[in-house]
Amino acid sequence: MSDQPVDYHPMWAELGLDLPTHDALLGAVGQLFGDAYLTQENRPQGMDYLNFVMSEVHGLRIKELDDYRKSGGKVFGTFCLYVPEEIIRAAAGWCVGLCAGAEFAYDQVEQIMPRNTCSLIKSFMGFKLAKVCPYIESADLVIGETTCDGKKKAYELLGDMHNVYVMELPQMKRDVDMAMWRDEIRDLMAKVEEVTGNTITAESLKASIKEVNDKRRALQRIAATRAADPAPISGKDALLATQVAFYDDVPRFTQMMNALADELEARVAAGEGVAPKGAKRILITGTPMALPNWKLHDIIEKAGAVVVGEEMCTGSRYYQDLVSEDASTLDEMVSDIAEKYLDINCACFTPNQGRLEDVVRMAKELGADGVIDYSLQFCGLYEMEANAVEKTVRDAGFPVLKITTDYSMEDVGQLATRIEAFLEML
Ligand code: SF4
Ligand code: SF4
Repeated sequence: MSDQPVDYHPMWAELGLDLPTHDALLGAVGQLFGDAYLTQENRPQGMDYLNFVMSEVHGLRIKELDDYRKSGGKVFGTFCLYVPEEIIRAAAGWCVGLCAGAEFAYDQVEQIMPRNTCSLIKSFMGFKLAKVCPYIESADLVIGETTCDGKKKAYELLGDMHNVYVMELPQMKRDVDMAMWRDEIRDLMAKVEEVTGNTITAESLKASIKEVNDKRRALQRIAATRAADPAPISGKDALLATQVAFYDDVPRFTQMMNALADELEARVAAGEGVAPKGAKRILITGTPMALPNWKLHDIIEKAGAVVVGEEMCTGSRYYQDLVSEDASTLDEMVSDIAEKYLDINCACFTPNQGRLEDVVRMAKELGADGVIDYSLQFCGLYEMEANAVEKTVRDAGFPVLKITTDYSMEDVGQLATRIEAFLEML
């Protein structure tokens, strides 16, 4: 076998990427990853798998998607936790997350949407406009959702450039909302069946529920080890595991994350960790951190603290709840899926008391010394909710720091100063 690295440029060209711009993006992400990740000490060996995934982030996985599509398979791109992966997989579709975590082509983005749009939306739109995201270009259908106003309108713009389907998401969690949400999931099933040409059966849905639950169980095991002092894994590494969960092959990822969890459990038993025992422990809550957004974790951990949990969509909201595996009919399974997904505590819901309870529970369970509330600038939902989070967390006896930022690196020095002062006070 040759040791020569594979040249993926022909595949990227076939997908329609702008090759020079894409090369520049990959170079920048590689640099960022090296600075944030490869400088860490005493990392678990199981992280080698995620290092490999990152080194092939636009390579091997895209090749797998490409091969799958050429053999007749379909790929679905999603932006939000509310789109049930179980439904897609039950029709033999593959699901990839499309949220983007880096500033790119904002000059082009700002020609079609307001400057004061959150980084998450600007980033995915920038990736699309600059033709640098092989995941969106591999998606036969992009499934959006009506979570926040910015996304709703962005999907209309994206719809001019790509095949987009939008799910209507209720904004409350009453019985009437649940009934409407079940109907939305049934409509999604019909759409996924139409695109794939495959019928979803009770058998295929039961299998996909189990498969996706297994993935979440593996992440739950990793999360549970972070309650130990010293923490056996850095917050940055644990965040990477959740970020990769959105687009990696499901059975392979589950197997590798269970192996990582085995190693972390052994580390906990041996009292081995990544930061000295007694290092300040931080829980982060807020807006999701899509790849390659590692900014906040990096600042906190380079200041000597350790992030022990993320109450966010790239964290506990992704894996803490499972779909019941008891159902035997398709209707019961759809109800179970609807129930699990409507239980996610996103700030797009009113009221959203469940999130406040989750933050306090996690801070206690993980032995946090303090909580950092993280909002992306111009995200009205999370910025607004930050006040309730601050009050609830403080009333529960935990110091809290509110941070509003974006994907730029301009405020890193200022954030580091604020975070260091917060850590000293703990
Ligand atoms: S924060 Fe809300 S809108 Fe964003 S991914 Fe999570 S559930 Fe979806
Ligand atoms: S961060 Fe806020 S504004 Fe941006 S997409 Fe998510 S919910 Fe919408």
